Amino acid sequence: MSQSLDPDADAHAALRLIGPDPANWVPDRVGLDHNVAIIGGGQTGCALAFALRRAGVGKVTILEAAPDEQRAGLWLNAARMNLLRTPKTLPGPELGIPALSFQAWYEARHGQAAYAAIDRIPRTDWADYLSWYKAFLGISPRYRTRVERIEPTGDRLTLHLDTPAGRATETAQKVILATGFAGSGGNFIPNVLVDNLPRERFAHTEDTIDFPALRGKVVGVIGAAASAFDAAGVALEHGAAQVHLFARRDAIAAVPITRTRGFPGAYDNYYLLPDGDRWHQAFRFFDYGSTPTTDAIERAVRFDNFHLHLSAPWSNAAMQDGQVVTTIGGTHYRLDFVIAGTGYSADLASRPELRDFAGQILLWRDVYTPPPAEQDERLGCHPYLGGGHELKPRTPQASPLLKDIHVQNPAGFVSFGLPIGDVPSMKRDIPVIVSRISADLFLGTLAELRERMTGSMPPDFSDALYRAAVRRP
Ligand SMILES: Cc1cc2nc3c(=O)[nH]c(=O)nc-3n(C[C@H](O)[C@H](O)[C@H](O)COP(=O)(O)OP(=O)(O)OC[C@H]3O[C@@H](n4cnc5c(N)ncnc54)[C@H](O)[C@@H]3O)c2cc1C
Repeated sequence: MSQSLDPDADAHAALRLIGPDPANWVPDRVGLDHNVAIIGGGQTGCALAFALRRAGVGKVTILEAAPDEQRAGLWLNAARMNLLRTPKTLPGPELGIPALSFQAWYEARHGQAAYAAIDRIPRTDWADYLSWYKAFLGISPRYRTRVERIEPTGDRLTLHLDTPAGRATETAQKVILATGFAGSGGNFIPNVLVDNLPRERFAHTEDTIDFPALRGKVVGVIGAAASAFDAAGVALEHGAAQVHLFARRDAIAAVPITRTRGFPGAYDNYYLLPDGDRWHQAFRFFDYGSTPTTDAIERAVRFDNFHLHLSAPWSNAAMQDGQVVTTIGGTHYRLDFVIAGTGYSADLASRPELRDFAGQILLWRDVYTPPPAEQDERLGCHPYLGGGHELKPRTPQASPLLKDIHVQNPAGFVSFGLPIGDVPSMKRDIPVIVSRISADLFLGTLAELRERMTGSMPPDFSDALYRAAVRRP
């Protein structure tokens, strides 16, 4: 592909070559607002909307809590790395249409040599690409629209919304949770901070952090995965006087253990693995730990005022003379601000949006008893998802509408392996979810569709077309 005057020429040609979008085939239902409501307008929600459109599933809406495109999704917010962590060659939201890919977009603007020269994708370029993807495909999330509650009402789901016009309800047949890490459970902040420190003295890496305000300050970072190192790097670049990063382990996790299953057979068929294998894989990942990228570590360690403390778990914290103090292994630390790079919980069932389904969602702990050496409460909290990423009922009395809530966020980790919602997961998961939704909508409206499928159809031509050629014996 070469740079042309119109950088979108190849993308336009690609859309022309795949033909027009099919018309919506799903029969309208009285009083139903949406066939599918996608919660979350990040990359996952937008790519799902495009895939549903190409499957002829109309009346799809994307509900996004953030005020605008910049604040939606992770890339210009909680993500602080300079380069994406994932390789640049992975397929993503283009969903098999090469001209809609990041590579095509980038080469059309900067040339092939420029693409060849980048090692991994610059984060802000990825955000620009996603912005283009949405605009080019006409995908418009409804910003400032937070889903507060998903209520089962009869044969459909009622969404309780907080919108710019106030509280509202809308109904949907299907709901997809494309709510990212934060929406898969919540930010995990250790109790030692929550119980002992005023809220203005600590933040989670998911929060908006006022880094310029940390200039000249002594900052503590808890955790040693990529987000912790990124936060440390940004604080140092903003002139923090010292940054102390505290890791529980005696070495930084350096083995990307999930790469042993990074081949297509294992990735694409992961769901077919027996429960024991999937649990073992998840447990092994937790055991080895999440590895920071090399550049995230380099970004921090190049500063002399960066201090790494290994085997240094926090067990105490208090305010003293206006500073946070903690004692670890007999050493006292005095800090002005603490950043928890401690990840997320995937306790989806405890999300406030799902409170109507409390106790009804099938979890891994309901299904699988691990061997004693692999007990893990955090893994047990993950929903035990069905093959279409749908929630499953825990008891026969549970709402039958659970099957209409599909999960494409990190809560699917134990069921589908890493990653879920990440760039590479799109190729496998989006077609699966769309195919299941299409099938459920098809079977759910079969009475109307059967009428359509067995209805009359005018002939394409009359017998006049061939009458003259007919030879009778
Ligand atoms: C720090 C960090 C770095 C990462 N780096 C990479 C990487 O390099 N490569 C990679 O592939 N993946 C990476 N990931 C994984 C990453 O989360 C995904 O790739 C990407 O953000 C997933 O997009 P998403 O649309 O699924 O979720 P998000 O980008 O998190 O978007 C979810 C959206 O849902 C909205 N939402 C949530 N709840 C509601 C609600 N109730 N109502 C309405 N809207 C709601 C949120 O406002 C948000 O905009 C990273 C994750 C983190 C945390």
